[in-house]
Amino acid sequence: MSKSYNAEIVAVGTELLLGDILNTNARFLSKELAQIGIGVYFQTVVGDNRERLINALTLALNRADIVITSGGLGPTYDDITKETVCELLGIPLLTDEETKKHIEEYFIRRGRVMTENNMKQALVPEGGTVLYNENGTAPGLCIKKDNKIVFMLPGPPRELEPLFLKCVKPILCSLHTDRVFVSKTLNIFGMGESAVEARLIELMKASTNPTVAPYAKDGEVLLRITASACSEHEASAMIDAMIDKITSELGEYVYGIDGESLQNVLVSRFAARGLTVSTAESCTGGLVAKRITEIPGSSQVIGCGIVAYSNDMKISLLGVNPETIEKYGAVSEQTAREMAVGVRRVSGSDIAVSVTGIAGPGGGIPEKPVGLVYIAAASEAGVVCEKLTLGRSKNEREYVRYLASSSAIALALRVADEFNAVREKAEQF
Ligand code: AMP
Ligand code: MG
Repeated sequence: MSKSYNAEIVAVGTELLLGDILNTNARFLSKELAQIGIGVYFQTVVGDNRERLINALTLALNRADIVITSGGLGPTYDDITKETVCELLGIPLLTDEETKKHIEEYFIRRGRVMTENNMKQALVPEGGTVLYNENGTAPGLCIKKDNKIVFMLPGPPRELEPLFLKCVKPILCSLHTDRVFVSKTLNIFGMGESAVEARLIELMKASTNPTVAPYAKDGEVLLRITASACSEHEASAMIDAMIDKITSELGEYVYGIDGESLQNVLVSRFAARGLTVSTAESCTGGLVAKRITEIPGSSQVIGCGIVAYSNDMKISLLGVNPETIEKYGAVSEQTAREMAVGVRRVSGSDIAVSVTGIAGPGGGIPEKPVGLVYIAAASEAGVVCEKLTLGRSKNEREYVRYLASSSAIALALRVADEFNAVREKAEQF
């Protein structure tokens, strides 16, 4: 087994500490490093200040094999990363003729006049590697010393990201010559992050290869599974075995692999089975239909999407009984059911879904608060309905609408699975 490496990210810039910009470089680098099996134990943010930068770098060099800095490579007086790293490591800076030419050409190409301070960017550490930056003037730099590797990358994400992918990643990958890393991500909907963790905690604790790490995104839970092995084939097989274990534990809540969206899965699954879908929406205003029709090939599966906002339209377009609305209200299980049945009748689709709810911020009452949503799905087998209690974010209205649409698509998928199972069973006889 080869040595495993860990890295520390040191983001340099007072603007980060002031909260003026978000440290997206750290996020990008951490994600990329995880993918190639390099652990990140610390991320540091430090201002443009020599002493504090020396402190942060000393700490990082003591506890990590690889230190990656971002920012502070520009031409101005407050850009001090390179000077400080070299001072700390006792490495002199020399003018690199290639880099100097690159900077001069960069200015000529853009028809801009170069100022003297730009030549500061042509200074590179003696014995270091220059990582040419195609999107800016400050090159990235790599220094190896005393079993440590330091990468210095420019701050602007549009420079750092391509530079990392093109120049840094290959160097890091070459550190493990005998291991490959493969990751897959499982998408889970309908269960919270802590519920997923509670169900999988033993599995997660017991497994170090592959590793299983959950995180939450857009109301969904993603599980990232990473394996290292001698070949890609072997790593993939280890991941697939883990996916089987997780799927048998979480069942229908697992809906996709590797960033497939709910709508993506719906379109491909419905198309494969020759099923059609239609939607009747109130509070989501067409978001369910929008998400389904985003997917190329959706014309094969979607019959229609009706947005029936007012009670009158629910009655005239979808055939909801006026007495239902009168008695139970537009936001009720009964109305949701009749909306689904109505749009299924109008469209002739195999499966129909409906959404009705209170997206907020106004319109809630104690018995029917903001975030109360009913979704229903109708098929040949009947109608199922779910009550959702959503809401609690800053952008409540958008959050409620988005999660309601996700839930409706997930419900359509579940009903389609049942429908399909029944159909397959019937075909056996
Ligand atoms: P610098 O190389 O320090 O002069 O940074 C140049 C610009 O890059 C800054 O003004 C920011 O807009 C951006 N930047 C620097 N550090 C980061 C970071 N950690 N995450 C995202 N953007 C950054
Ligand atoms: Mg800066």
